[in-house]
Amino acid sequence: MPMMTGREYIESLRALNPEVYFLGQKIENIVDEPMFQPHLHGAAMTYELAHDPEYEAIMTATSHLTGEKINRFTHVHQSIDDLVKKVRMMRLLGQKTGTCFQRCVGLDGLTGVYVTTYDIDQKYGTNYHERFKKYLAEVQENDWMPSGAMTDARGDRSLRPSKQKRPDVYLHIKERLQDGIIVSGTKAHITGAINSHQIITMPTRTMTEEDRDYAVSFAIPADTKGVTYVFSRQTNDTRRLDGILDAGNPKYGIVGGEAVIIFNDVFVPWERVFMAGEYDFTTELVETFAGYHRSNYGGCKVGLADVVIGGSGWIAEAHGIGTASHIVDKLTEMIAMAETCWSCALACSYEGYKTPSGAYHINPLLANVTKLNITRMVYEWMRVGQDIAGGKIITLPSEKDLSHPESGKIIEECFSGKEGVPPLDIIKMLRLIENMSVGAGLPESMHGAGSPAAQKIMIARRSGIDGKMELAKSIAGIGKDKHFEAIIGGDEAAHWDEVRKKIEGKRVQIY
Ligand code: SF4
Repeated sequence: MPMMTGREYIESLRALNPEVYFLGQKIENIVDEPMFQPHLHGAAMTYELAHDPEYEAIMTATSHLTGEKINRFTHVHQSIDDLVKKVRMMRLLGQKTGTCFQRCVGLDGLTGVYVTTYDIDQKYGTNYHERFKKYLAEVQENDWMPSGAMTDARGDRSLRPSKQKRPDVYLHIKERLQDGIIVSGTKAHITGAINSHQIITMPTRTMTEEDRDYAVSFAIPADTKGVTYVFSRQTNDTRRLDGILDAGNPKYGIVGGEAVIIFNDVFVPWERVFMAGEYDFTTELVETFAGYHRSNYGGCKVGLADVVIGGSGWIAEAHGIGTASHIVDKLTEMIAMAETCWSCALACSYEGYKTPSGAYHINPLLANVTKLNITRMVYEWMRVGQDIAGGKIITLPSEKDLSHPESGKIIEECFSGKEGVPPLDIIKMLRLIENMSVGAGLPESMHGAGSPAAQKIMIARRSGIDGKMELAKSIAGIGKDKHFEAIIGGDEAAHWDEVRKKIEGKRVQIY
């Protein structure tokens, strides 16, 4: 099957029948539901751009399994070039949608499971990796979008999964059968879940022997019996029902359309199980997935920054202050912050390496630094964007008032700017900046792909602080410094005795 277009992707979802709830109602038709459509459009862009010759090199790849041309969102990275192209793809899609296009979580799930199943098989002689490769070939062949379901509901976080009062706060194996496993549990805030074809699950944390049944990874069709979705609320979500203009980004929405996924006695056949009790590989899977996903944030969020920077510059011009020095200064500040994060994304890709599975992984230390920077800088560049846009972004009247014969005229006058700029365009741009800088996108930048504390743990683990102490000790003269001894051509202690004598002599001469 050839790669799907954006339209074909949306139509392909009609073949699925997931059980979805939103605002207290069961949603029978997710494709035509106006509350969901912007999210579908955002994900559809990942399909559509693969058909544009201008973006073909970034958006497509050659499958290492079949040799076929595939959408890069189904490709397991085979080189540093692939890693770099992936973050370029993230930035491009952020620029085209101004929001989360959702498909990356599944991609990182595919790659994380690919890398980890290889390593499990090496230790235990299992055949998870071959199984997974067959599944991956199917994903590529069908151009599926799988959601990546990692984060569990987690209940009392001071307790391990197996000690929870309600076992279903974590996804776990309830029963092992001849032909598969039965699982139950809850995954929370899963991006793009209701508009994905498949679900790939991964454990949310390091598991110990007592949590063996919680060390589970598998893939199933999104509408498998026993799977229920509850679509989550987002800031301003019901604005979509008030008017197209009021929604801010009516085409692609705000953040990723997250949902709770409830698994209730779901059967998974063995050919789709990729981890079942190998708790000693849960850290590897979590960290590999998280590393990939954290590197993305230096791409997708920078793409969003490009949109906000452009919008802020346009608004300043429309208000007649485009060349004011404080505006140029603020826009430059935003650009510098965005490009700093972009540099991080490129660095962790260029510093990537080949794993034993053959797939390439990013540099985990730099990927975590990338994401930690994003948790701060997105707030900062959005703050500057709001500063440029002015207070109007939070006081604009509604589309209904704008189209009212009496109030509409007054509003248009109020919001006029430089001669020749239609007031309606100014309002549209202000709404876009409001949508991107005030709403759910900010905490999503903080907590998506793991909270700052998670990044700091990874940074601390990989920082090589002991090595840094050695550097400082060497320069401070604590311990041996062989290079210094080579430079001075002898023993360091003897050298300093000599220097001391010379200093003393100097002092006598001066004083
Ligand atoms: Fe992709 Fe960024 Fe959305 Fe994560 S937050 S799914 S990396 S667009």
